[in-house]
Amino acid sequence: MKIRKDDNVKVIAGNSRGKTGKVLKVIPDKNRVIVEGANVVKRHQKPDRNNQQGGIIEKEAAIHISNVMLICSNCKKAVRVSRKRNEDGTTERICRSCNKAV
Ligand SMILES: [Zn+2]
Repeated sequence: MKIRKDDNVKVIAGNSRGKTGKVLKVIPDKNRVIVEGANVVKRHQKPDRNNQQGGIIEKEAAIHISNVMLICSNCKKAVRVSRKRNEDGTTERICRSCNKAV
């Protein structure tokens, strides 16, 4: 997974195309991410014990990882990244636009 929690990403496909937001959650099993404010769906909730009123709640739905792009913290563009393995075994993500670590 090239996207991590708290990354800023841009949505490049679907209803929320063009939106940017912070990654709230990564779901590696499904290759999906939840992005703050993107792909918001309305759910109709019936009143229950916890929620006396019921009504419509808005919630972000997961987006497939291929439909988002990482926003580089250096050049502020939606970019592709490559992985670089350091000598100490850690990996870094390198912005292919400005060649800096993201
Ligand atoms: Zn960059």
